[in-house]
Amino acid sequence: MDFSLTKEQQRLKNEIIKFSREHLNKMECMDNFSFDMWNNISQLGIHGIMIPEEYGGMNESYTTAAVAIEALGYGCKNNGFVFAVNNHIWVGQNIINMFGSNVLKDKYIPDMVAGKRIGAIAITEADAGSDAFGMSTSVVETDDCYIMNGNKMFISNGNIANIFVVFGRIVVNKTIQIAAFVVEKEFAGVTCSKEFEKMGLDSCPMCEVSFCDVKIPKENLLGNIGNGKLIMMTALELERCYEFACHVGAMQRVMEKCIKYAKERKQFNMPISKFQAVTHKIADMRVKIEMSRLLLYKIAWLKDNKKSAFLETSIFKLYVSESYISVCKDAMQIFGAYGYMKEYELEREMRDALACCVYSGTNDMQRNTIYDLSSTLWN
Ligand SMILES: Cc1cc2nc3c(=O)[nH]c(=O)nc-3n(C[C@H](O)[C@H](O)[C@H](O)COP(=O)(O)OP(=O)(O)OC[C@H]3O[C@@H](n4cnc5c(N)ncnc54)[C@H](O)[C@@H]3O)c2cc1C
Repeated sequence: MDFSLTKEQQRLKNEIIKFSREHLNKMECMDNFSFDMWNNISQLGIHGIMIPEEYGGMNESYTTAAVAIEALGYGCKNNGFVFAVNNHIWVGQNIINMFGSNVLKDKYIPDMVAGKRIGAIAITEADAGSDAFGMSTSVVETDDCYIMNGNKMFISNGNIANIFVVFGRIVVNKTIQIAAFVVEKEFAGVTCSKEFEKMGLDSCPMCEVSFCDVKIPKENLLGNIGNGKLIMMTALELERCYEFACHVGAMQRVMEKCIKYAKERKQFNMPISKFQAVTHKIADMRVKIEMSRLLLYKIAWLKDNKKSAFLETSIFKLYVSESYISVCKDAMQIFGAYGYMKEYELEREMRDALACCVYSGTNDMQRNTIYDLSSTLWN
């Protein structure tokens, strides 16, 4: 297996890092979603990294996308903004591209690639989190449309999104099936709560989205009725790969900040980088980053070779999230009291990182999946 980047991948990586540093790190945009930054990144074309050229995309491979998203997480320290971008790309736009009919793709993909419409995914409900298939949002088919009723909770991008991929239950031949639909915010009966106040990821707005007798055109069904579970699993596989690929870049950024600080900060008349207690923390960071990166590129390779990576993305999600939190915690320790001060930006990194043990399925649920898929391997 060749781990070297092609010249084109290296060029893209450098371009994204430079762009992120120049356009996406504005301090005044750390607490709220910035439409200016959104317009900037939309012009970069990264939304369409894996979308066919006929829809305005770059038609790149999973591997090149991994390089690009890792670079975005490294260059852009606004983790909330990166989270918003990833939600749009992977579980909004790309799911429509993968499972939508040509009519649906023509209707939504060009605008989403250009950043004119923002995507979000709506699975979770107030009483159905880890037990996602226990959802109660209901869908009924009529002669000319589907009618949806229900409430979706913790929807990232909710307040800024125009297009939702929404999962609901539908009864077919007396059996309950899960189906996925593309629902526009403009459809009558769709309402968003006011933005939730969260611990971190401040620049990615989140809310509850309600659907009250929403009439959804028949053509807005993704795949077939009953495909919902497969679509959800595909979305989670993409999410666990790419929403965590950027964390590999973020860990690298935090580690480099620690190396610089440890060389500059003096105690006992010498740089603190002379103390093993400090350098071993940085060495542990490096190990976590390398292991994470290896897993990321293995997943990208699997997907480029049209293989399932459901087990691998669970392992990656679990490992990266726990590594990311531990890297941020150790970074705060290396910075001493300065690390606790907002000015040094590590407390924000820590607050942003903590959520990743919960979203995309909690880490407990990843351990369940990893055990289930591993315990049958040798049967
Ligand atoms: C920042 C953020 C962004 C999010 N964005 C979105 C989004 O865009 N769209 C969306 O649909 N959802 C989103 N979510 C919701 C997220 O997917 C859920 O929070 C997650 O699936 C867990 O559900 P829950 O919070 O209801 O926890 P619960 O399912 O109630 O779990 C509570 C605790 O019980 C544990 N637990 C539950 N069941 C088991 C089990 N079988 N085995 C072991 N432990 C178990 C969990 O690990 C957890 O510790 C987001 C959440 C966060 C924090």
